Amino acid sequence: MRYIFGPVKSRRFGVSVGIDLSPKIKSCNFDCLYCELEKGKKTDYIQNEPSPKEIIQELKEFFSKNPYPDVITITANGEPTLYTKLDTLIDLLNSIKKSSKTLILSNASTIPNPKIRKTLSKLDMVKLSVDAVSDTIFKKVDRPLKNISITQIISGIKSFRKIFNGELIIEVLIVKNINDDIEEIKNIAQILREIKPDRVDIGTIDRPPAYNVDAVSSQKLEELAEYFYGLNVFVIKRKQSNLKKFSLDEKDLLKTLKLRPLPKEDILELFDIGTINKLKDLKKRGLLKEKKIGNIVFMCVN
Ligand code: SF4
Repeated sequence: MRYIFGPVKSRRFGVSVGIDLSPKIKSCNFDCLYCELEKGKKTDYIQNEPSPKEIIQELKEFFSKNPYPDVITITANGEPTLYTKLDTLIDLLNSIKKSSKTLILSNASTIPNPKIRKTLSKLDMVKLSVDAVSDTIFKKVDRPLKNISITQIISGIKSFRKIFNGELIIEVLIVKNINDDIEEIKNIAQILREIKPDRVDIGTIDRPPAYNVDAVSSQKLEELAEYFYGLNVFVIKRKQSNLKKFSLDEKDLLKTLKLRPLPKEDILELFDIGTINKLKDLKKRGLLKEKKIGNIVFMCVN
């Protein structure tokens, strides 16, 4: 699998098979303090873009041996809307997705562009990040390329809401002492009430961040969530469910865990016993390690 990864158990979207549009190198126009990928030089394009046909072929092969997931998630080792063939890819995905929903996880930087809005409107779910609404805090937390403006992003999201009939989810990620100021939170909440997303996910850091920043406590998160009254707010927590088990080989396990370290509890839920034994063996051989963040133990590539 070169361009797809998973399954991963998303905290908010269920079981997901991901499409990575930038598998070799991080390609993002932001450099967020909390990014779970490495700190990166900012860019507004993806090098050596995969072709939509190659991606669809991989998905077809995967689905010939595995169940369809809850969602097929378009993501990137960075920002997926930088992919220039996104419109074609979404059309092809819509033709093969069956019971799965299509989802994109975007930082919202390109939503001021009407062409991107039209392309994203073909998806079932769109998750856009809004970590701040003031220019100063936006630049501090998301560290965007110079030409990106939070005012234009907000205006773009408002226009998108008018043409998008699917589920619009806005994620607000709170970083301790960076964007947890009460006035900023009240302003974000007010603008989101104007946008009217279907859901607002409020979370904090729960994976190793690119920079030396901290999460807020669960109690603080709950307190801040109170300011988002009038909206469907989901304070991010893990869900329990009875899942069908997946089976991966060593290579795909390593790739999946490199892209996204998984909590041990999720691993036990997601994978069959053969795959769990392979994980144990990879750990014994020093290729995987455990890392504890707060109360959660993650399995990461060493
Ligand atoms: S937008 Fe996403 S990929 Fe880009 S730096 Fe921020 S968290 Fe990382």
